[in-house]
Amino acid sequence: MNHSAIDLTTAYELIDRLAEVHALPPADYAALIRAFCGGDTLRPPKEGEIGAEASAALAAYARAKADPLRRQYYGNQIFIRGLIEYSSWCKNDCLYCGLRKSNHTAERYRLDTEEILACCEEGYRIGFRTFVLQGGEDPYFTDPVLCGIVSAIRSRYPDCAITLSAGERSRESYQSLKAAGADRYLLRHETADPAHYALLHPPVQTLETRMRCLADLRDAGFQVGCGFMVGSPGQSADTLAQDLAFIQNFRPEMCGIGPFIPHHATPFAKERAGSMELTLFLLSLLRLLQPTLLLPATTALGTIHPQGRELGIQAGANVIMPNLSPAIRRGQYLLYDNKLTSGEESAQNLALLKKQMDGIGFSVVTDRGDPAGADIDASQSKDV
Ligand code: SF4
Repeated sequence: MNHSAIDLTTAYELIDRLAEVHALPPADYAALIRAFCGGDTLRPPKEGEIGAEASAALAAYARAKADPLRRQYYGNQIFIRGLIEYSSWCKNDCLYCGLRKSNHTAERYRLDTEEILACCEEGYRIGFRTFVLQGGEDPYFTDPVLCGIVSAIRSRYPDCAITLSAGERSRESYQSLKAAGADRYLLRHETADPAHYALLHPPVQTLETRMRCLADLRDAGFQVGCGFMVGSPGQSADTLAQDLAFIQNFRPEMCGIGPFIPHHATPFAKERAGSMELTLFLLSLLRLLQPTLLLPATTALGTIHPQGRELGIQAGANVIMPNLSPAIRRGQYLLYDNKLTSGEESAQNLALLKKQMDGIGFSVVTDRGDPAGADIDASQSKDV
């Protein structure tokens, strides 16, 4: 089915509308995605294929609309977050993830408090003012353990933001972590469609619980991040439209999206990776949908294409999360195959990242990088 002839005209109008009112009905998001992809597959035509020029022109249009909105709130600033992957143990079994408990070939490690603080110390020296502690759902990190780590970072680095990405926990746990000094929490919703969620997770993990956690995080006072993979098995234009509608409704402070990349030791080993072009198009739509969003150009984007990060920034992203984990651990935290662990991905290689961003007209800054509208002292930020 070729939707492009009719739907492209409408698609331009929908992008104009989204740029103006920052909201659309789910059916319009689905129509936009179908117009971009030239039909129901989530595979936009490649260069040389029928419809490729029309898709590229539509993406360029969305990008051109997204850019001034991002600049209105964040100028040309790119915020950096130092990512500390503190545990590769996980009790869950998400079907897409290399750290799932059923993957007995995964290398497991956990960092202790001193190792985590050493990462922070190095990160602070280099210029990071946000630390992101990310791990699998490792039962070792009980509330007292994780709160102790957060308190230690908080007391040593009062001018830094602490972000946690520690999975589903109880409402009380989230409240304790907030009280201990954490500011932000990332918990990808993965998909807003319950049937699709069930395809990506074992029955014990439900969308209902995930949504409960996101609501609890918001209630606990966190800046909250959700997000999803692009091109995950079973995803469609309609499920993606539900994701955008959910974000429009929930209004997270942050949103992480990246292409699905298969891991060889998971049930999805033989599935195709998601499309970079569709991921970039969705980044632009997210910027139009919520101009103040903190939107990372993710590692997955950098993994799937050598210029993925720069293209992500040009599409509307404004955050990059280089890796601050101890170098010997980086190759062990493998959510998917071929994950980037060196080059500009390494926090120690900030000079390279800065050069890349300078090259496309953006500036990496030393700043907590709070959402626009939060209590920000812009005079605190400076170039690094
Ligand atoms: S996605 Fe997260 S919760 Fe799921 S298996 Fe991987 S590390 Fe565990």
